[in-house]
Amino acid sequence: MVRIPTAKDIERELYTEAEIQQKVAELGAQISVDYSDKRIHVITILKGADAFANDLVHKISLNIPLSRDYMILSHFKDEFAPSGKVNLLLDLKYGIKGRDVLVVEDIVDSGHTLNYLVNSLLLPREPNSVRVCSFLNKPTKRVKEFKHLKIDYLGFDIEDAFVVGYGLDYRQYCRNWPFIAVLKEEFYKK
Ligand code: 5GP
Repeated sequence: MVRIPTAKDIERELYTEAEIQQKVAELGAQISVDYSDKRIHVITILKGADAFANDLVHKISLNIPLSRDYMILSHFKDEFAPSGKVNLLLDLKYGIKGRDVLVVEDIVDSGHTLNYLVNSLLLPREPNSVRVCSFLNKPTKRVKEFKHLKIDYLGFDIEDAFVVGYGLDYRQYCRNWPFIAVLKEEFYKK
């Protein structure tokens, strides 16, 4: 049976709702400056980046024409170890040739998902540009071959811990939590 995390299982809140919203506003403001003479085609990587992307697009200037599309990718892991196998579960609806694409991700960990997404799925379709906006990054978890991967807009670098909330799940739960948290070690041992 799947254990369902509740408030009593929280070890600590890493980022509060207010801190998250402050960061999202900063990222939106920076993106608005950088794309002031362009259109933005936002590609949200579901399901984890859903909450972040929805907040972010509200903070991008209305003077910038913005369109949206979605992808679902899954990176199979064996008890948290990266396997390198990334599967495309839902492809884009619209073509991206000639467009200025902004990829919105929840978290970059080993880098397998981002590498496959950008280099195998997006660049071959000849967009005008591809930039990446990720809410979280775990630099210490990046595998060597992906150290060079660029995150153009980043919310926070975090330690090597499994986090939930603000779109990030524990077995599909916790995505609706408005903050980002680390669960107690005991929770995983139950
Ligand atoms: P990567 O391919 O970079 O190893 O992993 C990226 C994906 O792994 C993320 O999009 C996310 O779905 C998942 N992931 C990585 N770290 C965490 C974490 O701390 N918490 C949760 N809930 N998912 C994570």
